[in-house]
Amino acid sequence: MTEENGGIAIMPLPEAFLQELKMRSDISDVVSSYVGLRRSGRNLVGLCPFHNEKTPSFNVYPENGSFYCFGCGVGGDVITFIRRIENLDYMEAVRFLAQRAGLQVPENRVDDGMAKLRARVLEINRETARFYHAMLMSEQGRPGLAYLQDRGLTQATIRHFGLGYSPPSRYALVDYLAQKGYQPSEMIQANVAFKGRSGRAVDRFSGRVMYPIIDLRGNVIAFGGRVLTDAKPKYLNTSDTLVFRKSDALFALNFAKTKEANS
Ligand SMILES: [Zn+2]
Repeated sequence: MTEENGGIAIMPLPEAFLQELKMRSDISDVVSSYVGLRRSGRNLVGLCPFHNEKTPSFNVYPENGSFYCFGCGVGGDVITFIRRIENLDYMEAVRFLAQRAGLQVPENRVDDGMAKLRARVLEINRETARFYHAMLMSEQGRPGLAYLQDRGLTQATIRHFGLGYSPPSRYALVDYLAQKGYQPSEMIQANVAFKGRSGRAVDRFSGRVMYPIIDLRGNVIAFGGRVLTDAKPKYLNTSDTLVFRKSDALFALNFAKTKEANS
């Protein structure tokens, strides 16, 4: 269920949380705080709190966690019961029961935060690919371009795959991204930078020919970098990030390597 709250769409609660909440909110216990119940076979019966009656027609079914009144037709699960009896909306009833059960309600803000960070990481990757490509085509990128041309890659191929060059300076990219308004913490999340000993963000790739790894939706999700010297490691790839899992992208990485090795 997606509920509206002040015009902002609220993400549905995770199913696992709702199951846990219901498991820890035994319907007989919850209802018993409001209604005197007596056992009747497998069920419990009492006077309905939602309409006036002298003979009990309000039934609680502990086996499936539900209730039903044969007098007024009100029924549902433990959340519905709390909504009706406490006159709360759905989320308020969930919070009410969560507090009673000692559970933390997952906050939508957390999910929103992750979605935003993920989007920022993708933007950073795109900017980074652009920057590396511009570098390759600049004076600074000469060693990288010479390396690729020596291996027979044409300008068209280089452009087509968006190949690039990461300058040997350890701050070229982080300075460029900072100028574009990105935070060092976001660059580190994207794994295009790491936290140096001084605490400052440092370019992760330097002096390498760069291969952007692009997913089926056209997002730049990661980079592979091949060093031009005998330095180790020969290949450096993006570690797992919010937008990239190495194990899912082996094909792309292998492709980049093969392309470079064969050409
Ligand atoms: Zn009733």
